[in-house]
Amino acid sequence: MHACCRANKRLATFDSSLPSRLLDCLRTWVSMDGGSPMQTVLSAPGVKDKKLVSFTRNDDATNDKDAVTGLIRSIVGGATPSSPAQRTAFHVFHINTVVDLFSAWRRGLPDVRPYYAVKCNPEPALLGALAALGAGFDCASRAEMEAVLALGVPPGRIVYANPCKPEPHLEYAAGAGVSLATYDTEDEVAKVARCHPGCQLLLRLKAPDGGVSGGDLMNKYGAHAHEVAPLLRAAQRAGVGVAGVSFHVGSPVSRVDVYRGAIQAARAAFDQAVALGMPPMRVLDVGGGFTAGAAFDEAAAVIRDALDRSFRDLRPCVEVVAEPGRYFATTAFTLAARVIGRRARGAAREYWIDDGVYGSLNNVLMDHKAPRPRPLASCPRPGEETYASTVFGPTCDSQDKVVTGYQLPEMSVGDWLVFDDMGAYSTSAGSRFNGFDSSEIKIYVAYSS
Ligand SMILES: *Cc1c(COP(=O)(O)O)cnc(C)c1O
Repeated sequence: MHACCRANKRLATFDSSLPSRLLDCLRTWVSMDGGSPMQTVLSAPGVKDKKLVSFTRNDDATNDKDAVTGLIRSIVGGATPSSPAQRTAFHVFHINTVVDLFSAWRRGLPDVRPYYAVKCNPEPALLGALAALGAGFDCASRAEMEAVLALGVPPGRIVYANPCKPEPHLEYAAGAGVSLATYDTEDEVAKVARCHPGCQLLLRLKAPDGGVSGGDLMNKYGAHAHEVAPLLRAAQRAGVGVAGVSFHVGSPVSRVDVYRGAIQAARAAFDQAVALGMPPMRVLDVGGGFTAGAAFDEAAAVIRDALDRSFRDLRPCVEVVAEPGRYFATTAFTLAARVIGRRARGAAREYWIDDGVYGSLNNVLMDHKAPRPRPLASCPRPGEETYASTVFGPTCDSQDKVVTGYQLPEMSVGDWLVFDDMGAYSTSAGSRFNGFDSSEIKIYVAYSS
């Protein structure tokens, strides 16, 4: 234990009241020893029981997308006698991507443990890979907790990050030993005291300039500054521990600066707890909203700086965690959908494919996704004729439209369209509308060497 924690008697009392498993887990955010991360992932629960497809990058494959495209070609071509040609829409989950994203996370935010937000994509192989790499999990319901626990993840590595929980789900968490949960209303405190009195709470704050960061989440959850003290007092009165503070800046974050204001507000809440005579808080959860690539590096720099400014004195005693969802999922999944119909009207083309906005492509409506499908058959050649094309999904709803006026070369029934970066809020929110069951869309788990 760090000296400043040891010196603090109240904190010592608090320590013993936190579920010991949780603390152990928070402290063991350490590098894996032995074995390459990829080997660890391939032998992880959720991954090892899958039939994996492996592929090598061709010499002329300049990046992962080309390599995955090659794999998709062999899947639809029935490359091996044991695997017949795939005839309906499917995803390829390229598991190396997650390993790479995880190392990028550790480089950018080495002291911030990611708790993957399961709602973004609950594919067991993704959950298992992340668990093996050392992630925790943000679960919002009983089924999400069950999915994670089924992989052997200890309950102390789960944060039940739904501020308003149905009682049966909360009782399940109590039975399963999931003992860290968010709240932002007084009624929730009473519910937790009733259904799961041993639970530790994280007070969910509204990010101060959240108004600009889009996303309806900003209106739905999070305490305003003037609500913080009453909510802390409510927990104090009910005898429910408040382990720390959480926020979620919106998905995805619009301006990385929002993290800075939210971290300042979090520090104010830490100070308020002390002023109220509560045990010092020791968990700061900076939520999700991250996108991979340069945007992540930028967000990470802002968070490191804000933590340094607002939490420097408390840092050794405060565990910082995050709840990334799309960061780990988006680029790891590629969708291939098959053209099942077409119509030419003058210079315009219309195509029907076998996945749409009621299936994986619901992110077009629900997550502002602007897909950029590309034909599997050919790379666009300079001078090749293209047509303003509309691509429909398979249901009879006229809203089931994936792109409109999008330039594509002439395609035929039986051709394939490839959609990159389809891992976030896609398969997790598909439906069975009109008898097209999106849970039947196959996911190939692939690794490259
Ligand atoms: C959805 C959600 C996340 C994940 O958001 P991303 O933008 O996918 O990172 C994190 N935390 C909470 C509380 C959420 O509801």
